Amino acid sequence: MGQLLTAGDGPVARCRLCGRPAAGPCARCQAPVCGDCCVLTDGGATTFAVCHACEGRGGATLAPGGRGTLAWLALLVVGLAALAAALALLR
Ligand SMILES: [Zn+2]
Ligand SMILES: [Zn+2]
Repeated sequence: MGQLLTAGDGPVARCRLCGRPAAGPCARCQAPVCGDCCVLTDGGATTFAVCHACEGRGGATLAPGGRGTLAWLALLVVGLAALAAALALLR
């Protein structure tokens, strides 16, 4: 008596790809995934886990417009360089 309840066997989050106990949520779709069904990716300063479904859909980047942001930064750098060059010419 008293041992009928199995301790710590509550609702376990299952990997949505293979059904095994999940290690954590996908950084993009929040679906629980296990360690084998996700990839670790650099999302800037931190490392994120992204499930294989999201990796195949949008690449292993956190932001949907990851490349757009990079292009934006490049544009900004080029603009600043042009401004610096213009200032240097004016002097
Ligand atoms: Zn899995
Ligand atoms: Zn995902």
